[in-house]
Amino acid sequence: MTRRWLFADQLGPHFTTGRGGVLLVESRAALGRRRYHRQKLHLVLSALRHRAAELGDSAVLLRTDTYGEALAQLGEPVRVHEPTSYAADAFVRERLETGEVEGVDPTPGFSLPKADFARWAAGRRQLRMDDFYRFQRQRLDLLVEGDRPVGGRWSFDEDNRKPPPKGADTLGVPAAYRPRESDIDAEVRDDLDRWTRDEGLETVGEDGPRLFAVTRREALAALERFVTQRLGAFGPHEDAMLRGDWAMAHSLLSVPLNLGLLSPVEVAERAVQALHDGDAALPSVEGFVRQVIGWREYVWHTYWHFGPAYRRRNGLGATAGIPAWFDDLEADRVDAACLSDVLDGVRDRGWVHHIPRLMVLGNWAAQRGYDPDALTEWFQTRFVDGYDWVMPPNVVGMSQHADGGAMATKPYVSGGAYIDRMSDYCGSCRYNPKKRVGDDACPFTAGYWAYLDRNADRLAGNHRMARPLQGRHRLTDLAALVEQERVRGDDPP
Ligand SMILES: Cc1cc2nc3c(=O)[nH]c(=O)nc-3n(C[C@H](O)[C@H](O)[C@H](O)COP(=O)(O)OP(=O)(O)OC[C@H]3O[C@@H](n4cnc5c(N)ncnc54)[C@H](O)[C@@H]3O)c2cc1C
Ligand code: SF4
Repeated sequence: MTRRWLFADQLGPHFTTGRGGVLLVESRAALGRRRYHRQKLHLVLSALRHRAAELGDSAVLLRTDTYGEALAQLGEPVRVHEPTSYAADAFVRERLETGEVEGVDPTPGFSLPKADFARWAAGRRQLRMDDFYRFQRQRLDLLVEGDRPVGGRWSFDEDNRKPPPKGADTLGVPAAYRPRESDIDAEVRDDLDRWTRDEGLETVGEDGPRLFAVTRREALAALERFVTQRLGAFGPHEDAMLRGDWAMAHSLLSVPLNLGLLSPVEVAERAVQALHDGDAALPSVEGFVRQVIGWREYVWHTYWHFGPAYRRRNGLGATAGIPAWFDDLEADRVDAACLSDVLDGVRDRGWVHHIPRLMVLGNWAAQRGYDPDALTEWFQTRFVDGYDWVMPPNVVGMSQHADGGAMATKPYVSGGAYIDRMSDYCGSCRYNPKKRVGDDACPFTAGYWAYLDRNADRLAGNHRMARPLQGRHRLTDLAALVEQERVRGDDPP
C-alpha cells in the first residue's frame, strides 16, 4: 500500500495511482531554476492542481522548495514511474539508496519499454527513425495487413509536403479545441503574478488565455475534435506556414501528451479509427501516426540511448552566443517577416508548429552558429511542450546536426527559397528570397551560403551535402556575401 509519487508529466489515468494514494509535488525551486515561458509554468501548475483536485482525498499535494523537502515532509516511502530526465532519474536513484523511494516502475507514458528499444537497437550500425517506425507499426498492429502496410506504403511523407493553398490566408479548417479556464487557472495566474512581483520569479514571453488541455477530460475533447474535424487536412499541408493561421491543421496535442494525460497508443488508435469512420484519408492518418508512435517515441528512446553527454555534442564547432533579442523573443525588432512572425508566436503562445521550429528558428540558429547546448536550453524553456527528454535529439540532432549525423543524415538548413515555397511570408517581407547580396538580400538565403562556406570542411564527407557544397563554387559573390553576413553579426535581421 505504498503511496505513488507522480511527477508533473505523469498525470493521466494510465499512470497507476495504487491504493496507497498519490503524492504530487509543486517544487518552487524547479519553477524558478530557469527562465521558463510564463505560459509553460501556467500549464504545468494548472495540470498538477487540476489532477490534485480530481484525486481529492487520495492525493497529497505538497508545495515545497525542493523534491527532497517534499519527501522528508511526507515521511513515508513512495513508488515512482521512471522519470523523464537524467536529473530526475539521478534524484530517484539516490533516494532508492536512502529508502525514501521504494521502487521504480516502467513508465506507461511511452509504448515501448526501454529494454525493448535496447534489443531493437542492438547490433544496428546506424539507428534510423524509418526502421523504428516500421517496427512500431508492426508491433502495435497499426495500419498493417499481415506484414504489409495498409495502402502499400509505410510512409506517405512525399504526399504530405504541399505548400499552402495558393492565395489562402488560412487553411480554412475548423478551429482547434479551446479549453475553458477554471478557478484553478485564476489561482495559478495570481500565484505567478505574486511570485514575479514579490519573489523575483523570472519568466519570458507573454501571459495569455490557456490554449492547451491540462486535464484528462480536456485532452480527450481535444483529441476528439482533432481527429473528427482537423485530421483530414493534417497531412497534405503538414509542412506549410501561413501568417494568418498559427495552428494550421496540427493537433496541439503535444502539451497533453507530454503532461502524460493521453497515452500515445490511444492517440494513434483513435486516428486510425478516423480512417475507418471516413473522417480522414490515409496520407493524413499515416502522417499523424508516424509523428506519435514514430518520431515521438524515437526521440524519447534516443535521449536515453545516446546518454547525457549527447546534449553537449558540437560536431560543427558552433560557439556563438544567443543574442538578447532572440533570447527575449523580441519579435518587433526583427524585419525578416518569417522570423518575426515565428518569434511573435513563441512570445505570445510558447508554441509554433514543427516547420517554424525546424526551418525558421533552427535554420536561423544553425546558419548563425549558435551554440547547440545553449539553443537546447532556449527551446526547452521557451516552448510550452518543452521537456528535457524531447530537446537534445530534436535540437542537437535534427535541427543543428551537431551529433555528426546520428539523428539525421543531413543538416536541415535552407535558404529563403524553401520558406518562400512553403509559406506566404516572403510577399510582405522587406527582403527578397532570391537576393544574396545587397540591402534587400534575404538573410536566410545569404545565411545558407555562408553556413555552407563556413562548414565546408566539416560537411565534406556527407554525400548528401556534396551538391550544395559544390554549388557554392558557382557563386561569384560568395566573398561579398560572407562579408555581408559577418557585418550583420548579432543584429536582428
Ligand atoms: C527544434 C525542435 C524543437 C522541438 N521541441 C519540441 C518540444 O519541446 N516538445 C515536443 O513535444 N515536441 C517538440 N518538437 C517536435 C514537434 O515540433 C512538436 O511536437 C509539435 O510541433 C507539437 O505540435 P502538435 O502537438 O500540434 O504536433 P503535430 O504536428 O500534431 O504532431 C503530433 C504529435 O507528434 C509528436 N511529435 C511529432 N514530432 C515529434 C518530435 N520530433 N519530437 C517529439 N514529438 C514529436 C508530438 O507529440 C505531437 O503532438 C520539436 C521539433 C523541433 C524541430
Ligand atoms: S524574404 Fe527571406 S527573410 Fe523575408 S520572409 Fe522570405 S525567407 Fe524570410
